[in-house]
Amino acid sequence: MKEKKFLWLPFLVAVVGFATGIERPYSGVHCNRFEKGIYACAECSLELFKSQDKYDAGNGWPNFTQPIASKNVYFLEDRTLSFKRYEVLCRGCHSHLGHVFNDGPPPKHLRYCINSIALNFKKDASCL
Ligand code: FE
Repeated sequence: MKEKKFLWLPFLVAVVGFATGIERPYSGVHCNRFEKGIYACAECSLELFKSQDKYDAGNGWPNFTQPIASKNVYFLEDRTLSFKRYEVLCRGCHSHLGHVFNDGPPPKHLRYCINSIALNFKKDASCL
């Protein structure tokens, strides 16, 4: 069972991270960021995505082709809309990160559409 920690979090992180909220497009700090580095979970600091896997899908959210390691995220079926989606969650703290879709670029054709507020960016020379 998910552990809910609303009282420990700033309000917006709580809404997006644990109530499956979605931030407004183009409102997030990482939407137009293309520096080299690592994107870590805003709640537990688990490293989740690399800048080299980030791309501009033109939809106003940070999009990635894959997580830094498949074991660092997991998925839940999401039927809150009229179609089935898959929610992406942090393995470290169970935060809601965003959703994964199958309209990404080759070869995997996956698009991890992630809320900026769920991520903290760390510049990392090893990604250069
Ligand atoms: Fe986390």
